[in-house]
Amino acid sequence: MTCPICSKETDAKYRPFCSRRCADVDLGRWLTGSYAIPAEPVDPDDLPAASEADPAARRPQ
Ligand SMILES: [Zn+2]
Repeated sequence: MTCPICSKETDAKYRPFCSRRCADVDLGRWLTGSYAIPAEPVDPDDLPAASEADPAARRPQ
């Protein structure tokens, strides 16, 4: 088994981590919510262009 933080060999004393440091890192992640899935960043390319979204621009001449 390897440490989930740094992938080094696990130390029985700190299972499932390799060291106290990695155990603290894992705890810190939980406390700061880093394990929560971050919101998807909005890609500007997925949004319609301003001219396309404007009904006036689609009006026939
Ligand atoms: Zn580690």
